[in-house]
Amino acid sequence: MDVAFFDRDGTLVYEPPDGLVRPEGFRVLPGVIEGLKTLKAQGYTLVMITNQSFYGDVSRIKCFEDTQELLFAALKAGGLAFDFVFLCPHSEGEGCNCRKPKTGMVDEFLREHEIDKERSVVVGDRESADGGFGKAIGVRFVKMESNGIFPMLSTSFL
Ligand SMILES: [Mg+2]
Ligand SMILES: [Zn+2]
Repeated sequence: MDVAFFDRDGTLVYEPPDGLVRPEGFRVLPGVIEGLKTLKAQGYTLVMITNQSFYGDVSRIKCFEDTQELLFAALKAGGLAFDFVFLCPHSEGEGCNCRKPKTGMVDEFLREHEIDKERSVVVGDRESADGGFGKAIGVRFVKMESNGIFPMLSTSFL
């Protein structure tokens, strides 16, 4: 299985300077729909891996869920859907084993699916969290600028 793992905030959707993505101000970043379509056409499984520090705060959870809905609707309009979505709801101080760059959110997924580590890829805007995650699972990392233009992966390395 060839897997493309994606961070969400600042990678697929606009992340405001305070780091809390809200449904107000929601926008899909340029190139995302085209980029995902290209990957899908190549047979990639699309997996979202997102760190969300909820602090047990219902308004943060609602921001997350409402943004997911808007994103999924935008993807659906482009004939796209994520195959799997994995979430770490913890903050850094909680010491969980699922906050990127830790791999707890995909451990079971990786046990259940044999992924091609040469062809699979992690795309994200944070070297430490997303790059570290890629390194930890042995999959190459493609860094994009936060809120930048989504990389056209077909031409850059496939
Ligand atoms: Mg990010
Ligand atoms: Zn966690």
